[in-house]
Amino acid sequence: EPVQIEPVIQETLKRFEVLNPEFVFQVNTEKMRDALVSISPLHLEQILLIILDNAVKYTMHDRRIVIVGQRLINEVQITIEDHGIGIPQDELPYVFDRFYRVDKARNREIAGTGLGLSIAKQFVHKYQGEITIRSKENEGTTVIIKLPMNQIIK
Ligand code: ATP
Repeated sequence: EPVQIEPVIQETLKRFEVLNPEFVFQVNTEKMRDALVSISPLHLEQILLIILDNAVKYTMHDRRIVIVGQRLINEVQITIEDHGIGIPQDELPYVFDRFYRVDKARNREIAGTGLGLSIAKQFVHKYQGEITIRSKENEGTTVIIKLPMNQIIK
């Protein structure tokens, strides 16, 4: 059944922030405050944690993470932007594949199995949503999640 997702995002971020005090989180979800989406709050939390975890893991210096939640016409959009090492253009098509990790040499020091994004994508698709990534090497990465919106509470 439909849930207000804004509080779910806020709660997830609150807990994640405490665990990553060296990062600055800029959050603006005001524009989706009353939006309802048919999604399990636990699954949404799981999706967000996978992406936030990557944002932290693949950032060396500029520890700012920007989270924006908006309402579009029939959907909500959540963007999570980091300013980390980024992903080379030619690797971008594969990052949602199971067990895929960009440039094994680069990742050697950073633990991971290459499953996170494929799981996030499965969850997003389960709810008829879309997940995409934009990235620039040495500049950062933005993950965009779109989920069908049920309605707005009046
Ligand atoms: P885990 O299964 O623990 O999440 P992982 O981080 O390697 O391991 P994915 O989350 O599926 O796996 O990500 C796949 C690959 O995409 C990563 O190995 C990494 O190279 C790249 N990647 C994902 N998110 C980012 C990001 N925010 N910045 C830079 N590279 C990223």
